[in-house]
Amino acid sequence: MTTLAEAKDTRRMTTLLEGKRKMPAQVAVYIFATVPAIALVAAVPVLWGWGVGWADLISAAFFYTVSCLGVTVGFHRYFTHGSFKTGRAMRIALAVAGSLSVQGPVLHWVADHRRHHAFSDREGDPHSPWNFGTSPAALVRGFWHAHMGWIFDRDLTNRQRFAPDMEADPDMRLVHRLFGPLTAVTLLLPALVGGLVTWSWWGAVTGFFWAGVVRVAFLHHVTWSVNSICHMIGERPFAARDRSANFWPLAILSMGEAWHNLHHADPTSARHGVLRGQVDVSARLIWIFEKLGWVHDVRWPSSRRLSRLRA
Ligand SMILES: [Zn+2]
Ligand SMILES: [Zn+2]
Repeated sequence: MTTLAEAKDTRRMTTLLEGKRKMPAQVAVYIFATVPAIALVAAVPVLWGWGVGWADLISAAFFYTVSCLGVTVGFHRYFTHGSFKTGRAMRIALAVAGSLSVQGPVLHWVADHRRHHAFSDREGDPHSPWNFGTSPAALVRGFWHAHMGWIFDRDLTNRQRFAPDMEADPDMRLVHRLFGPLTAVTLLLPALVGGLVTWSWWGAVTGFFWAGVVRVAFLHHVTWSVNSICHMIGERPFAARDRSANFWPLAILSMGEAWHNLHHADPTSARHGVLRGQVDVSARLIWIFEKLGWVHDVRWPSSRRLSRLRA
């Protein structure tokens, strides 16, 4: 017999979730979360010094920047939190650029991240490091879960509840469905560039490896570190109702996302690095887009609002 508490719990979870990821997609998640990571840790020391050229590094930096900003400016600040408004072309461009990070199709990304904010560091948060307790063993387990363990969870966040606006947009549904082909593009385009720049098959191979596979893995772990490290350690100058923190060593690589304490205190703010010296590349790009007239109604933080949010 089900108790009332269990029935309530089941009902609540069914509104949070929308079934399980299908087996082929689950296998793909395992492959794309682990194989690039293995390439990053195992092959980099082997190939460094002889199997990498300047063309590979420049190309890797380029694809890293585009896909990272696609996630931070597009998936995160725009689609998830609505920190500015824009037109159809920019919407599609941001959704495509974010998809090149291979962090899952856009509708899943947005639904998961809105659920993270709705339940941050409480039951229902898809990737809180604090779900298992505070003993040293529980924290190790929590770190692993928040960093990448949660990726392998087959439960899918309910999109009708968390991302109905995205679901209602045919362009977003199309980019979502094209996630597979866009994954092929993000890995094969660097191979094409490498081959053409060096005019050699070897250049195509190293381009694929460094600017494709290794770049994807590196950005995965930077993004996942915001979920894990930035909910565990760092400074908390603002009043958030969770354990989010500012972790400065990740500020540049995460393009401003590591100022995570301000972000949870004021989720719709277009700028996360609001204090003196807090570099926020994503906010700077939004500012440039605003000056060019490509985005509007940007939610810049006012000093009055910030002083209210101070811890
Ligand atoms: Zn967070
Ligand atoms: Zn957020």
